[in-house]
Amino acid sequence: MDKAGMFSALADLILPVECGGCGVAGTRWCRRCRSRMSDAPVELSPRVDVGVATWALGRYRAPYATSVLAMKEHRRRDLAEPLGAALAGALRTLAAWSELPDVDRLHLIPAPTRALSARRRGGDTVTAFAAAAATELGAGVRVTPLLHTVGSVRDSMGLDARHRASNMSGAIVCRSLPAGLRRPDAGTDGFVLIDDVLTTGATAAESVRVLGAQGLRVHSVVVIAGA
Ligand SMILES: [Zn+2]
Repeated sequence: MDKAGMFSALADLILPVECGGCGVAGTRWCRRCRSRMSDAPVELSPRVDVGVATWALGRYRAPYATSVLAMKEHRRRDLAEPLGAALAGALRTLAAWSELPDVDRLHLIPAPTRALSARRRGGDTVTAFAAAAATELGAGVRVTPLLHTVGSVRDSMGLDARHRASNMSGAIVCRSLPAGLRRPDAGTDGFVLIDDVLTTGATAAESVRVLGAQGLRVHSVVVIAGA
């Protein structure tokens, strides 16, 4: 065994390698999960009306929910690449279905994350996999982080749909639009709100509303795992 091989074997002993989607040992992302993640996107019907079509790569179960959790809670930053590749595939499919404008002119807008949560996770995971998707899709696709949360948004866990919506009201604000989005031809660009999980739809609905108030018409919401 050479030095690199020995180091990798030692690292495996310390940090056992397992698939971020299904937990199978010996690989960080197995072929089965890769293939499941390239299934056609599913349309969601959230309890809170989001106002635009809402899609998920899959329902809230493995490998969709598990890979999101692994990235968020177990710092599996390496999953940004496979999740980004899967997201890119879903965006291509949605464009082919005419659910999105030209996939060469997309702005991926990450849903807002609380700064504290992001720091605890070692960075904003949604922006990380959106960036990987943009790289996969090519030069015309940009990640445009415009949204952030203000004030004290309570953790929405345990709140019902109505309370989640009121918890969100006024909690999300949009940064001033970059010059590129104020060009006259920005009107032909596509804007997609990206998030990891969609449960009630309250965060997505408020994000779409806030962007709309700035004159940005969001075409669709696309998430990894939908409840
Ligand atoms: Zn797997």
